[in-house]
Amino acid sequence: MDYQQYAEQFKDIGEKIKESREKANILEHQAKKAKTEFESFSLMSHIIKELDLACDNDPGKHGPAYFFVSAIGKRDISHSENPSLQEPCPSCNTQYPVIMSYDQTCDSPDGDTWTKEAFLMCPKDGISPIAIFHREHRFL
Ligand SMILES: [Zn+2]
Repeated sequence: MDYQQYAEQFKDIGEKIKESREKANILEHQAKKAKTEFESFSLMSHIIKELDLACDNDPGKHGPAYFFVSAIGKRDISHSENPSLQEPCPSCNTQYPVIMSYDQTCDSPDGDTWTKEAFLMCPKDGISPIAIFHREHRFL
């Protein structure tokens, strides 16, 4: 066997490279999607538990606090003890209570940022953002 005969055995390798690259791209996309879903469902599970113990006396200072939403204004979101305001899920159109997070998203000597974010949680379709507001001081 000379070099040409040996190399001839690998003549289809370009096609194999292309096929395996496509397969890797598809699997990477699926893995990314599954990871995003996993993170979304894990966050939803955490939020559901946190909503049940919304009795923090310094909400948002040590990580996001979660509440049900009663109203969304032009510059602020009002919270309520129980499910109040409802909106349709943009994917399946089912009505769900609007939830908010309240969090000190930046704590520095140059200035703080407090963030309120309203969103929907659908058990099938995950989290859909609705509104977000930032301030340099506490809202509550
Ligand atoms: Zn949905």
